[in-house]
Amino acid sequence: MVKGELLLLDGATGTELSRRRVDTGLPLWSANALTTDTGLTVLRQVHLDYLNAGADILTANTFRTHRRALAGKGHDARELIRRAVATAQEAVAEFGQPAPVAGSVAPLEDCYRPDLVPPDDECRAEHCERIQHLVEAGVDLLLIETMTSIREAVIAAKLATATGLPAWVSFVCGREGRILSGESVAIAAEMLMPLGVKALGVNCGPAHTLAKSLAELRAVCGPDFPLIAYGNIGYADEEQGWINTDAVNPESYLQYAQTWPAQIVGGCCGTTPEHIRKLKDCRSLGAAVAEQIGSGRGQEPQGIVKLQPDSTTLFSPNL
Ligand SMILES: [Zn+2]
Repeated sequence: MVKGELLLLDGATGTELSRRRVDTGLPLWSANALTTDTGLTVLRQVHLDYLNAGADILTANTFRTHRRALAGKGHDARELIRRAVATAQEAVAEFGQPAPVAGSVAPLEDCYRPDLVPPDDECRAEHCERIQHLVEAGVDLLLIETMTSIREAVIAAKLATATGLPAWVSFVCGREGRILSGESVAIAAEMLMPLGVKALGVNCGPAHTLAKSLAELRAVCGPDFPLIAYGNIGYADEEQGWINTDAVNPESYLQYAQTWPAQIVGGCCGTTPEHIRKLKDCRSLGAAVAEQIGSGRGQEPQGIVKLQPDSTTLFSPNL
């Protein structure tokens, strides 16, 4: 983490639904929850638990709601997106304090297969449709996440920034710090920043592997550009989508997060409200310690202290 006040994302939705015994079988994965009353009730509670844990932003459960993921399953993408966003908004209303709801824009094909990214015209048409549905449903920002190639990310980012809503872009990187396509995050940043994206980052890699690509992004983006980081715990599974483990407890997750030079931090697959609560507790503690030490010595300590991304930058639309 960098110095200042953190902006907290929520943690995992799909794997948290699975922990709470909602069917998350592929291909619908987390979108299964949008097809039953029970699923929607549990989803709403997951969102509420993240808000109570300290998340500043909720991500609507729209990761697998695009037409391609739903193909042949008899579900309408627009309707599922409407339900997903409405459920997150209901949780915010129940929580009683405002919190932006991000629309998740996932890869059109398998999360970890850059070789399957569709041709440009298909990417453009399908991302355009989903982004329109998200805007209609009332999201506050567009989170283009888990991207495996620069090509698909750029297509989605152009469409997202054209809506006037803030657009953030996050990639999946391998242990060596490169995007799964083998491309460099530095080149991705050079292509995406001129498009007007408001934040860039890395997600859905093991929590201990994110620091390398984030450091590379930080070098290209400069010290003030908002970087996003949310890692996973567990591993992907071809049938169930994800196998949860408790291998990284909240305390360990926090320790990994402390190595990320990012201002926007949360959790991806396998993380829980307790992981977010740990980040939140530490954020408050860090700020208090910073104030104490800062007033005493006239300087700030290093570590998780006083992260305050400029909210006007992060949330202002592209005019
Ligand atoms: Zn993930």
